[in-house]
Amino acid sequence: MFQITAPLSVIAGALCLLSACAEAPGQTAPQTSEHSASEQSATAQNGAATAILNAGVMANVGAESVKLLFDPLYDNHFGSLAELPPELAEAIITGAAPYDDVDLVFVSHAHGDHFSASMLVEMLLNDSDLWLIAPGQAYDQLKEQENWHHGLATQVRTITLRNGEATQTFDLAGATIKAFRSPHSGWPERHSETHNISYRVSVSSGDGEVMRVMHLGDADPATQHFAPFADFLSAKRTGLVMVPFWFYQSDDLDAILEETLNADTSVAVHVPVNVPAYLSEGTRPYFTQVGEVVEIPITAQ
Ligand SMILES: [Zn+2]
Repeated sequence: MFQITAPLSVIAGALCLLSACAEAPGQTAPQTSEHSASEQSATAQNGAATAILNAGVMANVGAESVKLLFDPLYDNHFGSLAELPPELAEAIITGAAPYDDVDLVFVSHAHGDHFSASMLVEMLLNDSDLWLIAPGQAYDQLKEQENWHHGLATQVRTITLRNGEATQTFDLAGATIKAFRSPHSGWPERHSETHNISYRVSVSSGDGEVMRVMHLGDADPATQHFAPFADFLSAKRTGLVMVPFWFYQSDDLDAILEETLNADTSVAVHVPVNVPAYLSEGTRPYFTQVGEVVEIPITAQ
């Protein structure tokens, strides 16, 4: 599906020249495997999804270049995931380039490897134009922070859904956001009480076209969980879906991406430091280093 036209290190390196990557020691090692880079080099930030770390991704979408961050700030690497360097966290919180003028921040779920309540409150305090979309479980933790004040509630939209329930929709900052809840990986034995939210975000690219991305948090890959959303998912083509890495281990990965999720392209995120062989020996893109880039294909409205 992907034709490799440029080593990822070239693309990531070019982006890092423009970004705060140099301030994050150890995060700019050249990426030698040819697992990523889409059909055209993503030299312009707009229309690109850029790795932060772990499940964190920045996406710049649409004609107005709406800037989205998914799971950007987190407290815990649980020993197997990349640690969020303090310099990188600081750049995101304070809005230093390339994290300036962020429009929307999404939290998939309130686990420590996807979410930092204290850092997100700091980020909200620094930018009164910022919207935060998060499950109610995350919001409950935000309100417990010492630096929280009730005025920040106007910048937060909370998701309160049951598994399989019809999507919640928001129109914010020029983006149409559809949130849905499906079980967290490990279901039903583990994390069954965790509200795991997937977000599908669409922004017009003009001329009847759209950039549409979807981030699945820690979703369990069993297709039965997506059955309640079949009509919703099949109605609109997604340009890029960001999946937790274990999706790539599925025997029917092609069908999950192409049919169930109805996506043009994918990138795996949340990848452990010790990259599983089914990723490194596979052909589909995945993120392991800050600044890595994949293109977001434009799709019809
Ligand atoms: Zn989790």
